[in-house]
Amino acid sequence: MSRDAERPCPVCGALAGEPLHERKFVLPDGHPLARGYTVVTCGICGAAYATPLPDQSAYDRFYRDDSKYADAATGTGSGAQAWDDQRLEETARALAAFAPEKSTHIVDVGCGAGGLLRWLAKLGYTNLTGIDPAPACADATSAIPGVRGITGSLFALPTVEPAGLIVLSHVLEHVRDVSAAVDGLKTITRSGGRVYAEVPNAAQYAEFLVAPFLDFNTEHINHFSVGTLKRLFASRGWKIVSCGSKAIASSPTAKYPCAWVLAELPLPGEAVEEMPADRSLRMALSRYVSASHSLLARVIARCEELGIASKEIIVWGTGQTTAILLAETPLGGARVRAFTDSNPMHYGRTVSGAPVVPPDALRAWPNIPIVIGSLLHGAEIAGSISARGLVNPVIRLDPGAQ
Ligand SMILES: [Zn+2]
Repeated sequence: MSRDAERPCPVCGALAGEPLHERKFVLPDGHPLARGYTVVTCGICGAAYATPLPDQSAYDRFYRDDSKYADAATGTGSGAQAWDDQRLEETARALAAFAPEKSTHIVDVGCGAGGLLRWLAKLGYTNLTGIDPAPACADATSAIPGVRGITGSLFALPTVEPAGLIVLSHVLEHVRDVSAAVDGLKTITRSGGRVYAEVPNAAQYAEFLVAPFLDFNTEHINHFSVGTLKRLFASRGWKIVSCGSKAIASSPTAKYPCAWVLAELPLPGEAVEEMPADRSLRMALSRYVSASHSLLARVIARCEELGIASKEIIVWGTGQTTAILLAETPLGGARVRAFTDSNPMHYGRTVSGAPVVPPDALRAWPNIPIVIGSLLHGAEIAGSISARGLVNPVIRLDPGAQ
């Protein structure tokens, strides 16, 4: 299989992608994921996805070696931040309704630092396993009393006692070879076993827009609606038990839309109902693209007002929003002295030739303005800059910021 070959639909397997949006990213040097792709919708089932992409092995390597979720202080899923912890508690309480027996073996695949399992243990569950490709995440999960953490992935599932409930919380949007991943789940459960899958709800991206095109990022390569998520599981032989949509916290002030499905592995011979195509997702994503263009125009106008392109600056953030802003706004033309991030994963690398340094290294350049390369977390980051005693002028790009 060649690198970056056209990708079949992750839901129905068809090669019938209709282009919707071209995406480009400016990423740290050596970053293994795609520096651009086309978001398409499937002419057969209506699912949305990115193509072409590197092979699944590039994603496996990324989530094993470069996991941002391994840093509990900044990665979501650890519960280290109050807003994230509340989200995990709500999900754990919802899962409890799907597994009434506290002895049910619950396996969280892609468990990150284990925040959801910690809540399930608090709710009285006694047989909990977390699987994550990043060894640091598996270790953090094992450190939680009453929880086993194992290194592994959807494509290298460890042998475990059959699960009564498998949890895939914000995992399937990250997976290149989705149907193989869903089929593999059958090796860790048996008839009557359930899977709970929760993903971003692409049908509602437009209503929850916070940064232009942020949902079309390097890691989110599948864009599900409730309908296409149901169709995925039904087409792989799972019986749909329940489904829905909800909004979760993605920062102290912002919410994020989710779709979820609860499916069950049928008894041998039991019929599984097929699910229809989703004919409305493409229209919903077109609204998201046009709302993103409008917001991007405001960020570009702000960059121009501030004269960003002619300044020497420091950029705070090496994450998803920065990757898009560098590709799409005058920020990409600025003279960047250095990048920094509170997450240490990129320290020692470069972005467009400029080094990524720890925040404390910025003390060497007290007069160079720091541009915050996030629109969602601008206020938090500005607070953290001043809490670290850094005296650099701070520039926020989010429209509406002072
Ligand atoms: Zn399809």
